[in-house]
Amino acid sequence: MPDPTPDATPLTSPVPRSVVVVGAGLAGAQTVAALRTHGFDGRITLLGAEGVPPYDRPPLSKELLTRPEPVWLSADLGVDVEALADDVRLDEPALGLAAGPDGVVVTTGRGEVAADAVVLAVGSVPIVPPGFAASSLLHTAADADRLRSALRGRDGLRLVIVGAGWIGAEVAGVAAGAGADVTVLEAAGAPLSRQLGPDVGALLAGWYADAGVRLSTGAAVAAVEDSGVVLAGGEHVPADLVLTAVGARPASGWLAGTLPLDPRGALLVDGDGRVPGHPRVWAVGDVASRAHPVFGTVPGGHWSAALHDPDPTVRAMLDVGSGVEPAGAGHAPYVFSQQLGHDLALLGLPAPDSPVVLRGTPGDGPWAALYLDPAETPEADRAPDGVATVRAVLLVDSPRDVGGVRRLMSRGEPLRLDLARATDPAVRLKSAVADPA
Ligand SMILES: Cc1cc2nc3c(=O)[nH]c(=O)nc-3n(C[C@H](O)[C@H](O)[C@H](O)COP(=O)(O)OP(=O)(O)OC[C@H]3O[C@@H](n4cnc5c(N)ncnc54)[C@H](O)[C@@H]3O)c2cc1C
Repeated sequence: MPDPTPDATPLTSPVPRSVVVVGAGLAGAQTVAALRTHGFDGRITLLGAEGVPPYDRPPLSKELLTRPEPVWLSADLGVDVEALADDVRLDEPALGLAAGPDGVVVTTGRGEVAADAVVLAVGSVPIVPPGFAASSLLHTAADADRLRSALRGRDGLRLVIVGAGWIGAEVAGVAAGAGADVTVLEAAGAPLSRQLGPDVGALLAGWYADAGVRLSTGAAVAAVEDSGVVLAGGEHVPADLVLTAVGARPASGWLAGTLPLDPRGALLVDGDGRVPGHPRVWAVGDVASRAHPVFGTVPGGHWSAALHDPDPTVRAMLDVGSGVEPAGAGHAPYVFSQQLGHDLALLGLPAPDSPVVLRGTPGDGPWAALYLDPAETPEADRAPDGVATVRAVLLVDSPRDVGGVRRLMSRGEPLRLDLARATDPAVRLKSAVADPA
């Protein structure tokens, strides 16, 4: 058993000869693939919790009714973990971890797995508030099966969705399109308020009625019952099925007391994915909040982070370069969504109090919101002119611009735009990049 005391740990991470990857989702599969890509020929053990091979989650909501089979990563990305890892246990979740300077031991319900290093890729779990046990969730392929059966089983099913976030909005549109009677209850004053801010969120509210969905904002749900939901004010909203989609948190409960977790339960890792003070422990994907040279601490929850971060993490672990991008340089956070007949891409990380300027006119074709750096944009100076640092760009209904904006946001330095040009939809954003001061 390794010594679990972090005080005695060396500062460097020795190159391992055996690795246990915990979590058989996107980040876990990509970690296994990256280990082999970078020449690791030691032993790889992969532990999973769902009993099925790795698959992609975004289609679970977007293609709920049109894609009944999971999108397996072996087909989609060509990552076949059975062929790449030595020991694949898809139904053997980790229950405990002991991490010391010489190695790690992961405890499962069937015994212990010892290795030189561990990569934690356990993702997230949906938040279920107290009193919500009677509701459905959409996080796994098994959840999607259940929701699909319910929607197909009854014409005009009364579906109440709690939460107008990414997943709530996506399912609402798909279900209403298939004939369900859909109501979305959102506690905040606007959809996607937490993710996009209340002002931009309010610009999306009309999409619900257009898609045949009832949206109630400022509607806090107190409890979910078999017959519907009870609002905080006592009103009962009847439903045949209630889906709770109020967010997710890192699946790190089993690590409490072993590794430092932030208040959300995330593992704070450096730009390479290393857990500071624990040279044998790395974390990638939704469970990690990763240091980024431009955006600061980036919380997990981005599909693209789970896709891309394992490669630089593995390079740092194996102490190899690739010549593509230095380990730790980091790509910009990126979230995409298709909801209620619209296409969204959020590139970068808005600050909670980022001032926003619009490019184009909502309701009149493609438009974008530019989230400025609040530190350098005082309240008195929020006119859309001058040069400002743009922390994030939300692209609405312009999927062809995503690649270009991603490149702009991922240059490894803050994006400074001439706002008069950047807010003119006739000018390409690339041409609005300000000359260095
Ligand atoms: C319905 C849905 C739609 C989404 N759509 C989008 C989208 O459009 N755009 C976007 O950017 N992101 C989207 N996401 C989020 C995106 O899917 C995640 O960011 C991504 O899956 C994270 O990958 P991961 O490998 O870190 O975690 P996961 O995909 O959650 O995989 C982690 C795996 O680890 C397993 N596990 C957990 N605990 C243990 C344990 N103790 N031992 C062993 N295994 C364990 C879990 O069962 C799971 O299989 C969506 C998520 C959902 C649920």
